[in-house]
Amino acid sequence: MCRTQSGKLISAMQSLTYIPDFQIVLTRRCAFDCGYCNFRRTATPVLPSKKQIVRLMQTARRLGAREITLVGGEGIAHLQEIVSTARYYGFASWFDYVKFVCETILDAGGPQQGRRPLLPRLEMGPVSLTDLVKLKPFLPVMTLLIHSADDGLQSRPAHAHAPQKTLSQRLAALELPGQLGIPTITGIMVGIGEERGSWERAAQAVTNLNKRMGHIQNFVIRPFYPLPYSAMAKQAPVSDEVLIDAVGVVRGVLDKKIMLTVELQHRPHLAAAAAKAGADDLGRFFLGDSDRLHFEMPESIEKMIADARAEGIEITERMPLTDNFIRRRELPQAVSMALARCRQGNDGKDGSSGHLEAIGM
Ligand code: SF4
Repeated sequence: MCRTQSGKLISAMQSLTYIPDFQIVLTRRCAFDCGYCNFRRTATPVLPSKKQIVRLMQTARRLGAREITLVGGEGIAHLQEIVSTARYYGFASWFDYVKFVCETILDAGGPQQGRRPLLPRLEMGPVSLTDLVKLKPFLPVMTLLIHSADDGLQSRPAHAHAPQKTLSQRLAALELPGQLGIPTITGIMVGIGEERGSWERAAQAVTNLNKRMGHIQNFVIRPFYPLPYSAMAKQAPVSDEVLIDAVGVVRGVLDKKIMLTVELQHRPHLAAAAAKAGADDLGRFFLGDSDRLHFEMPESIEKMIADARAEGIEITERMPLTDNFIRRRELPQAVSMALARCRQGNDGKDGSSGHLEAIGM
């Protein structure tokens, strides 16, 4: 038993984790056009050069990020603009460029260099087996969301222009990192017009896949927010009640070995409700991205931690890879070495003692 700040006695301290993240959008080019996304409808930057990547990494460190999410659209490896820019930088292909960015992030940082280590995480849809083989030595973890197990969305705004997002195709794509033992994050979006029963189907399908391949680290529940310029810009965001309902439904089916994440960076007030519904983790809290820094986020995180503690819930920062996967011997050497540097810890050496520190830009 323990006592909350309000004096209430509760049975045991529940715990949740989160990860401070910095996002680099490598490109907004995409071969598809999901209703909840604005990548195809907004201008894209030129692929960042090595110098720009290094500068963004420095910013991420100063803010106190643990990982860098590298984002790009799906099905773009053969787009002329992508191929030509990659070649201009001296790479044979898009994924050679992506590999270089992962390697750059993984190699930098650690006590010897006096800089906070960072781990890269890819979020750019399905990757072919050939390209995954290329990326694996420098890829600690990747995200490939199912998005929805409701194939009825193929005729609704969410996926009317995303034929690659049927459940069977996403599951087939999810098998490929499993064949190579690459830790993978998957999950669904909630509130995009899907039927409630699809949450359970998604959780069951991922559980079955993980029983065969064992590579799923997290199942993410991502709440829908209408993005400006997207096809679903005028649709209401998913309600708190529906989001927490989804957590309970997924938890009831999902393999207990898989971490259940509900992304609450925009709804930190739901942390206690999410924990009670069965969530283990609150996912990414973006301290910044390649467009802007989220100066409000550190305060929001601190408040969320204090409020949750008052409810008897402990929230702590976590590593990009969970202990289950860190203990695995088959992690590539560069990834193991980067993780070891993270564990030695060097917070403070480069002024990155945490995300509350004021950064000097
Ligand atoms: S596939 Fe991904 S990047 Fe492309 S439109 Fe859909 S959500 Fe956006």
